[in-house]
Amino acid sequence: MIIVMKNHATEKQIEDVVKWIESVGYKAHPSIGVERTIIGAVGDNRGKDVLKYAESLPGVEKTMPILKPYKLASREAHEGNTEVAVGQVKVGGPDFVVIAGPCAIESEEQLLESAYVAKKGGAQILRGGAYKPRTSPYSFQGMEEEGLKLLNQVSARTGLPTVTEVVNPADVDLVESYADMLQIGARNAQNFALLKEVGHSRKPVLLKRGMMTTIEELLMAAEYILSEGNPNVILCERGIRTFETATRNTLDLSAVPVLKGLTHLPVIVDPSHAAGNWRYVIPLSRAAVAVGADGIIVEIHPEPEKAVSDGAQSLKPEKFYQMMEELRAITAVMRH
Ligand code: PEP
Ligand code: MN
Repeated sequence: MIIVMKNHATEKQIEDVVKWIESVGYKAHPSIGVERTIIGAVGDNRGKDVLKYAESLPGVEKTMPILKPYKLASREAHEGNTEVAVGQVKVGGPDFVVIAGPCAIESEEQLLESAYVAKKGGAQILRGGAYKPRTSPYSFQGMEEEGLKLLNQVSARTGLPTVTEVVNPADVDLVESYADMLQIGARNAQNFALLKEVGHSRKPVLLKRGMMTTIEELLMAAEYILSEGNPNVILCERGIRTFETATRNTLDLSAVPVLKGLTHLPVIVDPSHAAGNWRYVIPLSRAAVAVGADGIIVEIHPEPEKAVSDGAQSLKPEKFYQMMEELRAITAVMRH
């Protein structure tokens, strides 16, 4: 249920409504808009009729049921677009944000070199995996805490905020102590224990679409995070599994405008895991800008042929610089 406050409702009235919602066993999620405040009341669907009585509280204009199964992620629950801050960088605002870095953190030298390339090219956020959810148990699994320490050091040296993946609920505290944003990878898009755990984090979450999840399932996954109290979720389309084998996955570009219509959360595109081949990364990135995404996350590597993970889809520095030039030209036309 959404509780719509009157235009001139006071802070005290808003506070009292929040307390009342909690007293009847629901969680209150206020969203302070420019025009007015709306308060999402979420919890058990049974017995939600009690929330109608909020209409008799001072400062309340009306109550409205949220029809979508994803309540807090839906546009109904929030006025305008949500901007998510990753360090100093805002995702979901006017700027198209580029997140770049290696698939996996391999060494200090490799990460630092990648970060310099990312920064020189104009990326705003550094990526790098310390825990790698590999399809094979025999593939490199990541440098774990040692990798997180390197990420933190390189971030301090370059000034780039960071995103890195967490795969285990027990590691969330550790990962968030080193990184500016937590990534939930495609293979964990419906790992509900992990989603709930990052829902308790104060760091923003980059939630990737699973390779077999529908758009509605992705929004329900986001709902797990939001309903635990973390409002800072960025959605990522990274390709889904189809009958096509020429690319690693099929980039579902239509997911971007569909999501933009359904949710207030920022939406970015990962052309690297969608394509699986560096040759397609630049054209897909151009398409991401044109289709209205808020940014991209792209894999780069100083020497992709030596990469321990996802070398085939990683851009060499020169290709990354070329891509960034092209994106600047398109964003100038599309976004300003
Ligand atoms: C990654 O970002 O390196 C990764 C493993 O991505 P995905 O979860 O989309 O496969
Ligand atoms: Mn990867």
